[in-house]
Amino acid sequence: MHIGILGGGFTGCLLAVHLARRGAPGTKITLIENADRLGRGAAYGTDNPDHLLNVRAGNMGAFADDPQHFHKWLADQEGAAAPPASAFVSRMRYGEYVNDVFARTVSEHPGVISIVSGLATALHPGARPEVVLADGQRLDFDRLVLCFGNLPPGAPPGLTEQARASGHYLHNPWRAADLQSIPAVASVLIIGSGLTMADVVQTLAGQQHRGPITVLSRHGFLPLRHEAAKPYEMSRPAGRLLEIFRNLRREAKTAPARGHDWRDIVDALRPYTVGLWQSLTSPERRQFLRHIRPHWEVHRHRLAPAISDALDHMRGDGQLTVCAGRLVSIGWKDGAFDVAARLRGKEGASCFAPDWIVNCTGPQADYAKSANPLISHAVQAGVLRPDALQLGLDVTAAGAIIDGAGQTSPNIMALGPPTRGMFWEITAVPDIRRDCARMAGVLLP
Ligand SMILES: Cc1cc2nc3c(=O)[nH]c(=O)nc-3n(C[C@H](O)[C@H](O)[C@H](O)COP(=O)(O)OP(=O)(O)OC[C@H]3O[C@@H](n4cnc5c(N)ncnc54)[C@H](O)[C@@H]3O)c2cc1C
Repeated sequence: MHIGILGGGFTGCLLAVHLARRGAPGTKITLIENADRLGRGAAYGTDNPDHLLNVRAGNMGAFADDPQHFHKWLADQEGAAAPPASAFVSRMRYGEYVNDVFARTVSEHPGVISIVSGLATALHPGARPEVVLADGQRLDFDRLVLCFGNLPPGAPPGLTEQARASGHYLHNPWRAADLQSIPAVASVLIIGSGLTMADVVQTLAGQQHRGPITVLSRHGFLPLRHEAAKPYEMSRPAGRLLEIFRNLRREAKTAPARGHDWRDIVDALRPYTVGLWQSLTSPERRQFLRHIRPHWEVHRHRLAPAISDALDHMRGDGQLTVCAGRLVSIGWKDGAFDVAARLRGKEGASCFAPDWIVNCTGPQADYAKSANPLISHAVQAGVLRPDALQLGLDVTAAGAIIDGAGQTSPNIMALGPPTRGMFWEITAVPDIRRDCARMAGVLLP
């Protein structure tokens, strides 16, 4: 059996590790990756040590049956200097760990895993799905797993061509080197207030930025702070969407009386999230995305305490301002930005004229708009289609892709963030690691 894996970030590398470890005779695995370094991807490719994991070291192990694996690796590497399991370690270090786990597997299973470097630009289905690379190479497989991760961000609403081409608009916040172009005294507008915004503010602070930073997002919510966690026993919530969330809020409010914090309740929900999502009707899912998601995201994807403290400090100093409102347009006239937004609680449009703008609106979710050549080719050719809620790709509960005509592929699957429409909670390591093990079992029973 020859299995192709497209994408060598955390998901692709971990799937290759599981497949190799299963030791099925005659198995060949080919990993296709465009970037120079494996195991990094957008999350762990940062070279900034101030960019921290948003999950404690003790739960970032690559294997679901050994959540401490990463922490043990740190202890092996660093001895007594290793941080405690409760620490939020740098994402750069985590990338080294994933790369090391993968490299060890390659050397322990000689001849099983090959790596092909290059950009995949086209995907042809058939009895043997075929991937075409930018250099013209064609590779075909018995099974192909798409692990292309989070898409780069889409454009913020109302962005004009002139503003995009101004040289002062940074479209991809994950390219940290671009942020170095921002002068220390410049005023900066960050669109979006999630975890990537926190990375950007950290990077600016690290380069001694002194100018004002304004954050604009629809609700103006910042991710909440991690605190010491205590395991909380909870059975699967019953009822329909609104009832579930009403009960959860009640449980969170009364948690302190039982020696717990709302965070323990949010974390206790994790084993049930996929099942709950899949039990929702389409209107309920839409209702969740529209009304509950903004609250859910900030409670669920929290900030390491050190980063949360740094943001609070900058807000206290008046350097960092957070505004809630709807962005209307980003223009560029006579060498300056002209940004219009409707801010909450204010009549009419408010105007901003920042020196620089950084787009932190999060990964593009609509695959029909993806700039990734393989994805745009495959969506246009009807080989892949976006899921109904435009959260990712349309896949079955087993991860098989569903094409433009609604047919389930017998030999092309997707794994990790692209399957968000089916699983919802499939972006962080604790969720992806479980699914990598499951997929390996499906491919090599
Ligand atoms: C900035 C950021 C920070 C995060 N922090 C955390 C965290 O602290 N903890 C946590 O649990 N999760 C975190 N996450 C969630 C993250 O989704 C997962 O942890 C994990 O990194 C996803 O890995 P992946 O391999 O699916 O995707 P990616 O890491 O994005 O990897 C996909 C790979 O596919 C390759 N690729 C894509 N298209 C092609 C093509 N056409 N040809 C060739 N190669 C291609 C890309 O080069 C890339 O290397 C973070 C995510 C982001 C974006």
